[in-house]
Amino acid sequence: MSNDGRKPTTTDAGIPVPSDEYSLTVGPDGPILLQDHYLLEQMANFNRERIPERQPHAKGGGAHGRFEVTNDVSAYTRAALFQPGATTEMLARFSTVAGERGSPDTWRDPRGFALKFYTPEGNYDMVGNNTPIFFVRDPMKFQPFIRSQKRRADVNLRDHDMQWDFWTLSPETAHQVTWLMGDRGIPKTWRHMNGYSSHTYLWVNAEGERFWVKYHFKTDQGIDYLTQEEADRLAGADADYHTRDLYEAIKRGEYPSWTLKVQIMPFEDAADYRFNPFDLTKVWPHGDYPLMEVGRMTLDRNPTDYHTEIEQAAFEPNNIVPGIGFSPDRMLLARVFSYADAHRARMGVNYKQIPVNRPQAPVHAYSKEGAMRVIKSEDPVYAPNSKGGPAADPERWPYQAGWAASGEFMHTAQTPHREDDDFVQAGNLVRHVMDDAARERLVSNVVGHLKDGVTQPVLERAFEYWRRIDPDVGGRIAAAFEHD
Ligand code: NDP
Repeated sequence: MSNDGRKPTTTDAGIPVPSDEYSLTVGPDGPILLQDHYLLEQMANFNRERIPERQPHAKGGGAHGRFEVTNDVSAYTRAALFQPGATTEMLARFSTVAGERGSPDTWRDPRGFALKFYTPEGNYDMVGNNTPIFFVRDPMKFQPFIRSQKRRADVNLRDHDMQWDFWTLSPETAHQVTWLMGDRGIPKTWRHMNGYSSHTYLWVNAEGERFWVKYHFKTDQGIDYLTQEEADRLAGADADYHTRDLYEAIKRGEYPSWTLKVQIMPFEDAADYRFNPFDLTKVWPHGDYPLMEVGRMTLDRNPTDYHTEIEQAAFEPNNIVPGIGFSPDRMLLARVFSYADAHRARMGVNYKQIPVNRPQAPVHAYSKEGAMRVIKSEDPVYAPNSKGGPAADPERWPYQAGWAASGEFMHTAQTPHREDDDFVQAGNLVRHVMDDAARERLVSNVVGHLKDGVTQPVLERAFEYWRRIDPDVGGRIAAAFEHD
């Protein structure tokens, strides 16, 4: 029987197979033979298709693109990707946080906004969210926070009582919870949301001068959102609504873009700024540090294999390049460990050799062997050596990419600055940024969320939490809950 001139099916070893439809049997009615190694390979491969899903940010999609510099910020950083005239290939992945891999795209949740730039000085990853802030400021609380957002141990159900229990016992969550319950808590599509570094980073220029920086990727499509009702309908009608939207827009040639703007804080300002600039639950008001344009990111190429290009994409905040450093933000410093560790757990120690994670810059690492290593190691395999192996160049990684610190060992809160208060910026968002209609939707979203299983005494604490954010909105939430 001919295959009509099509490519012959083969095993993974490239051996032609005799049939796509029938296993090898003893006669038409006899048992299957163990030597049908193609059948065995197909069954074995199928059983191993899934790798552990991300914990959290399991559900997501992404695309390839480029970043082009449009403004000269060389006075603030010497990073190659931000120099005038530079264009850098990149990858973006957007995601929900709490849901599993098959969960609806339109659940109310922050969205991951993870970027990988293939720069000439190595991969630079900005693993941000579509919000400029986060729920907690200390990594000790991150794991319990995510557990409270996911599923109970007993019945494997998500539980709003558990979510509000954690939130109301953790007042630092007030700003992000307000943001989440507002319109931006469910973006219309991934194309219609901003991305933020959320963390403060350090920039270092060619002279070694240091600046604190926050990144804002502003959508060029305009901000848009779904109401709770629209999102609930879509969750049933098309659980992959955001994934589909990004894919189809790029397929149509409507390439989404974002303009990168930054807020720059002089290094010395940090000590005395009215908010602790390394507290992940706070923004720097635009009036204090205005936005400065840097460049534009455009997504123009869909993945052709979701698993190898998106599911196995490994974004990690530890991937920073010369000219960029970390900050004393505790959450950032903990993520520098936890992301790479998560990738090792999901994909093995050599995940950076998967093509989507491979840098375009040359790699001269002393790492060696390990499961699934596919790029050859070279001798010498140790340093220091007198055999011509790679040698570290401190000039390429200047010491200025850090800051001075001293003190006793302790378990304690970050030093609060003059105006630090967990409710002040949440209140500003409600009072100064939202209009009447947005506040009304906020009240309705919160009441709907609380009605879904929140019990006393958590409920009373939730009313008090909202009164502390804004007395008027808090009162309206309590009243609407009673009369709804
Ligand atoms: P600004 O007026 O300078 O900033 C207000 C910003 O709020 C806008 O620029 C917009 O951010 C964002 N925004 C608009 N609508 C919403 C919404 N429904 N939900 C969430 N954010 C929205 O005032 P301040 O800088 O003093 O900030 C006031 C409050 O605005 C903050 O307490 C914070 O909650 C929120 N905010 C501030 C940001 C900042 O970096 N300063 C960024 C985002 C929110 P964008 O321009 O990024 O779209």
